[in-house]
Amino acid sequence: IRSYSVLSNDQLRINGVKDVIAVASGKGGVGKSTTAVNLAVALAIKCRLKVGLLDADVYGPSVPTMMNIHQKPEVTRDMKMIPIENYGVKCMSMGFLVDKDAPIVWRGPMVMSALQKMSKEVEWGGLDILVVDMPPGTGDAQLTMSQKLQLSGALIVSTPQDVALIDARRGVRMFSKVQVPILGLIENMSCFKCPHCGEPSFIFGVGGARRTAAEMGLQLVAEIPIEVDIRKGCDEGIPIVVSAPDSVVSKAYCDVAQNV
Ligand code: ADP
Repeated sequence: IRSYSVLSNDQLRINGVKDVIAVASGKGGVGKSTTAVNLAVALAIKCRLKVGLLDADVYGPSVPTMMNIHQKPEVTRDMKMIPIENYGVKCMSMGFLVDKDAPIVWRGPMVMSALQKMSKEVEWGGLDILVVDMPPGTGDAQLTMSQKLQLSGALIVSTPQDVALIDARRGVRMFSKVQVPILGLIENMSCFKCPHCGEPSFIFGVGGARRTAAEMGLQLVAEIPIEVDIRKGCDEGIPIVVSAPDSVVSKAYCDVAQNV
């Protein structure tokens, strides 16, 4: 917290937004962005809320690809960026602003100033809920962000694998340090169901998140399998909640949306 105390307490507070919810993970590659995108779209389509999605994963912004947004945001007269809307969700991402192939090598304070731009200097309009796709990990930048974004709550995403769950526990502790309530744990990549014989394979182990949730007094809010259609949806920019709204997976995301 000390290293970023240059930001005052309300510097990341976003006006006109009722609730800000973080989707976080202790480590990268576990499906945090996939979850954030599908949750945001479910909140818009299923719950009919005014939803924003802030891609704060500045090191590896995935929202432009996953939401199929490839243009740059326009700017208002008073120099505020206008978020770009798709599937009923207003999106803002560092990926809109930087060259796709350029490496993003930033130090913490630069990350914080980029995030400040993307949260405060954006014309969000009135939002019921802003979903924040957090940068992975539990370092100083994440801690400061969790504190200054004035989060209503956080969802933690993990695979059932021990190495992911150990880091997820760190995430839970980080949020409790700054008094942000944990809305639940989402187990992603729970199992793979063979499309030929239907037999499930527990590639990353069985029931890891359920055990961790029980140990930490958290609610396990969803168990999302590994599915080709989820991956395809991410790569093609059509979230599974849109492409297959009646699938079991989409229903799971909608359940989470209805209960946050
Ligand atoms: P993170 O944000 O944690 O780094 P991503 O959401 O970017 O992770 O997911 C990493 C990769 O795994 C992406 O290519 C995504 O398409 C894929 N993926 C995530 N969840 C699933 C899933 N349940 N089934 C299949 N592929 C998935």
